[in-house]
Amino acid sequence: MAEEDEDQRINRRIQRLSLHLNPYLHDEEELGRVVELVACAGVRPKLIISVSTAAQLSEYMRGKHRGLQDRVYEYFNGKPDLHTPVEISKDDHRELCMRQLMGLVREARIRPFVYVAQEPDKYFSILEAVGSVDISLGIKMGVQYSLWGGSVLNLGTKKHRDKYYEGIDNLDYPGCFAMTELHHGSNVQGLQTVATFDPLSDEFVIDTPNDGAIKWWIGNAAVHGKFATVFAKLLLPTHDTKVVSDMGVHAFIVPIRDLETHQTLPGIEIHDCGHKVGLNGVDNGALRFRSVRIPRDNLLNRFGDVSREGKYTSSLPSINKRFAATLGELVGGRVGLAYSSVGVLKVAVTIAIRYSLLRQQFGPPKQPEISILDYQSHQHKLMPMLASAYAFHFATQDLVKKYSEMKKSHDEQVVGDVHALSAGLKAYVTSYTAKSLSICRESCGGHGYAAVNRFGSLRNDHDIFQTFEGDNTVLLQQVAADLLKQYQQKFQGGTLAVTWNYLRESMNSYLSQPNPVTARWEGEDHLRDPKFQLDAFRYRTSRLLQSAAVRLRKHSKNLGSFGAWNRCLNHLLTLAESHIESVILAKFIEAVQSCPDPSSQAALKLVCDLYALDRIWNDIGTYRNVDYVAPNKAKAVHKLSEYLSFQVRNIAKELVDAFDLPDHVIRAPIGMQSTAEAYSQYTQYVGF
Ligand SMILES: Cc1cc2nc3c(=O)[nH]c(=O)nc-3n(C[C@H](O)[C@H](O)[C@H](O)COP(=O)(O)OP(=O)(O)OC[C@H]3O[C@@H](n4cnc5c(N)ncnc54)[C@H](O)[C@@H]3O)c2cc1C
Repeated sequence: MAEEDEDQRINRRIQRLSLHLNPYLHDEEELGRVVELVACAGVRPKLIISVSTAAQLSEYMRGKHRGLQDRVYEYFNGKPDLHTPVEISKDDHRELCMRQLMGLVREARIRPFVYVAQEPDKYFSILEAVGSVDISLGIKMGVQYSLWGGSVLNLGTKKHRDKYYEGIDNLDYPGCFAMTELHHGSNVQGLQTVATFDPLSDEFVIDTPNDGAIKWWIGNAAVHGKFATVFAKLLLPTHDTKVVSDMGVHAFIVPIRDLETHQTLPGIEIHDCGHKVGLNGVDNGALRFRSVRIPRDNLLNRFGDVSREGKYTSSLPSINKRFAATLGELVGGRVGLAYSSVGVLKVAVTIAIRYSLLRQQFGPPKQPEISILDYQSHQHKLMPMLASAYAFHFATQDLVKKYSEMKKSHDEQVVGDVHALSAGLKAYVTSYTAKSLSICRESCGGHGYAAVNRFGSLRNDHDIFQTFEGDNTVLLQQVAADLLKQYQQKFQGGTLAVTWNYLRESMNSYLSQPNPVTARWEGEDHLRDPKFQLDAFRYRTSRLLQSAAVRLRKHSKNLGSFGAWNRCLNHLLTLAESHIESVILAKFIEAVQSCPDPSSQAALKLVCDLYALDRIWNDIGTYRNVDYVAPNKAKAVHKLSEYLSFQVRNIAKELVDAFDLPDHVIRAPIGMQSTAEAYSQYTQYVGF
């Protein structure tokens, strides 16, 4: 009898929870309607979204390679032995991660390498899907195919592709990408490992000249790698003297373990970098080389070659140009990280919003408790984040499209655009996601801290996205430098990269004094006009750019260019972020305008407006300082963004559902799912 009561109590609770999950949509029959406003309890009108609109929106958000991703999900769903448990040792995690990769390639027959070579957009889709199984697996796959494989494809020539393609593809040749050294990470030109050509034996001799030059943090090195692409200074002895010429940093294929026995090869020392804050499925190691001889053919010679006689040839005239071309070929890793980081943000925001809809705390006197997402403070934490996930989704999709185009056309303008955009988006998106993960955890209270609910592993695994493939602070400086270069070109009448076009079109109008009349306009139509929003973002960027140029010129007289740059560094980072925000907003507006279904378009427009106004409000001090926005308008921006947050809250469930994440991705047994099973799982998990 007591058991029956208990069952009834649980059932009642489940019913209440599922109603609460979407209180506006329980009568699905009548929901053929579009997104619309309905009066609610005499307070503010609430938005609802119909079932058909939700489906259309989901269709619009779904990547065009969803079928390929489904193959990944289905494979891992059917393989419980390949699921990463919550508690696992470093060594077991590394072995599991390798088995996951082997399973994907050899059993599920999903071969990422062919896509790295031919259809990068498909490769990034697979990366997103495997990252949702375990982020370590995504990184392990990235090291094998994008870094080690990508270096062979992009820095090598036909002879290298012929020799290594098959082994990389089928995982017979697991490999590493050995660039970073103990003393040099961001400053790649400072690398000290050397590759000296020996004309007598027709070989290069690889050496680690001091402890600081030990290759460090190298993924796949500690346990599984058989080869490494090693970045080293190419030294050429001259014929008549003992002097050597330094030709700059080049990439070399160095076998590190025996193909049959897996024993470490002579002259090579391998150490384990040990347990890390996250990503423990990836075996990072350190490599030292003591006079390791490799054939001349192992130089990846696309941008520079050495003949049998020891003569250096290159189509590029200087060390700097060769270095830029070499690093330029490696931007795919950044594109992948930006794209995957949006995937992580979507997962975190989905878990946090679903939980916040279910969770009830406090309420008006003598009335039921309310959902925590009904608190304004909670909406303020999560709704702009949801809007950002949408904004980043469209921006990174566009980046992937541009990257694929670049790989096909090699058009110089597109190359420049992709380089700066991948640096900027990687830095901006990964920093934003890293901060958001903490907010999501905190907004789920104590349950957010249970390891099984994933925020801990997402946060720990994702954190390093801010550092590898280019430290974010360093990457943003590349964006700022590029903007300044473009700014200079504008005044010399040169052409501008595609993404920078707005500088040419509107710099002059942005730099004139703000219009005192429009500065006071505060109507909703005006504030929700994409022109106002984009103008505001671009005005800020243009002002920051112009003032940075003036300051740099002034300080370089006394401090030199390096000192002046450092004096203006915070200003330059703000400039880069501001530019990237402008690019993101422009892409979001385009995506809203291209959405074919009017109801989904209305929902997206709402989210886009929230993204834009929230960002303007965050930086309202800047706009007020120059009277771009008068006090009454600033107040109106704030009020409207709070109101939009409230409206987005009312369709938040549909908006996260539209991400269409598979169940296993958002699995979160402790009271964090929307379904009845979740509740019973919860009771089982904690043992009552
Ligand atoms: C888990 C993991 C996996 C990795 N995998 C690989 C791999 O497979 N292969 C590989 O080659 N490398 C790998 N790395 C190395 C990674 O690429 C480097 O850590 C990264 O490039 C940063 O270099 P660093 O650690 O030396 O940091 P540093 O360059 O020393 O930076 C330290 C701090 O100084 C700041 N800083 C540096 N320069 C400037 C500047 N000019 N202006 C302002 N601030 C500055 C940075 O913002 C940062 O906060 C990996 C690292 C980790 C942790």
